[in-house]
Amino acid sequence: MKIDQTKIPQATAKRLPLYYRFLENLSASGKQRVSSTELSEAVKVDSATIRRDFSYFGALGKKGYGYNVNYLLSFFRKTLDQDELTKVVLVGVGNLGTAFLHYNFSKNNNTRIVMAFDVDEQKIGQEIGEVTVHHLSDLEKVIDPEVTVAILTVPQVAAQKIADQLVAAGIQGILNFTPARLDVPESVRVHHIDLSVELQALVYFLKHYSES
Ligand code: ATP
Repeated sequence: MKIDQTKIPQATAKRLPLYYRFLENLSASGKQRVSSTELSEAVKVDSATIRRDFSYFGALGKKGYGYNVNYLLSFFRKTLDQDELTKVVLVGVGNLGTAFLHYNFSKNNNTRIVMAFDVDEQKIGQEIGEVTVHHLSDLEKVIDPEVTVAILTVPQVAAQKIADQLVAAGIQGILNFTPARLDVPESVRVHHIDLSVELQALVYFLKHYSES
């Protein structure tokens, strides 16, 4: 069945990697089918939402049978381009950036940081977690043309200028770990992860909305 990707709502699309990871584990353990209730408990998304999400993929669970794990997996693999390696660059090899280079999505076979950039001469030329650190001024010269995604772990003040350079070098998606709100062309997508804001929000919720 051919699915029109543009019809999948963004909220649903964001949940795909979550479903994918869980289904991969299920398949590895030899399970062939799964109910929306089981999925719901595992990924912490309510089962009505799961049923609605899956209906966009043409996956209609049968009552008393559930969903076919392998059908869903092969669909997700195609949709998430898991058959292809997604190459990523990282800018800012500080504490957080270095941690990402060591981690390098080792549990996910299909996403890999392939090069890193910084401006600190002491870091240029180093290999961290098998990834070479280049000078940012060489970005356009050395970047692999297949790379479309960048992770940004630089100080806030440097973020906008680097985002402009990344866009000029053909980057289409930025995972922004700086607190800066980035100005980019409409065709470029920015996902913003501010760890301290997330942590503060969690602490606030615990304090003010906790049941006990
Ligand atoms: P460190 O302990 O190495 O300073 P940090 O995470 O505390 O790490 P930050 O000041 O947040 O340090 O800087 C993160 C990284 O971003 C550093 O490696 C720094 O050299 C780099 N950096 C700073 N300015 C730029 C820039 N304009 N372009 C690219 N990288 C930059």
